[in-house]
Amino acid sequence: MLKCRDVGQLLYEYVEQRLEPPVSRQLEQHLADCPGCLAFINTYKQTMRLSSELRCRDIPPELQQKLRSFIKTKLAPHSPNLWDRFRSCFSTS
Ligand SMILES: [Zn+2]
Repeated sequence: MLKCRDVGQLLYEYVEQRLEPPVSRQLEQHLADCPGCLAFINTYKQTMRLSSELRCRDIPPELQQKLRSFIKTKLAPHSPNLWDRFRSCFSTS
């Protein structure tokens, strides 16, 4: 069984659909039983969507603040590339 901290480590590959199918299934099983991780992964997906659909200046300032702290504390340890992308975004605003 996967643990919550494993989910954090697999998240990026999962959302990018790079996990092996058996691993992906295990992750989905964990999500079915763990509302915390499910909420986390949904926020992550939302963030990824925002980052691909929106230009930096289209993100409202209060959302930028939330995103910044979310990315910095939750995502940056697993996805340094994502953090880099947003950091440049935030610093220009
Ligand atoms: Zn969990």
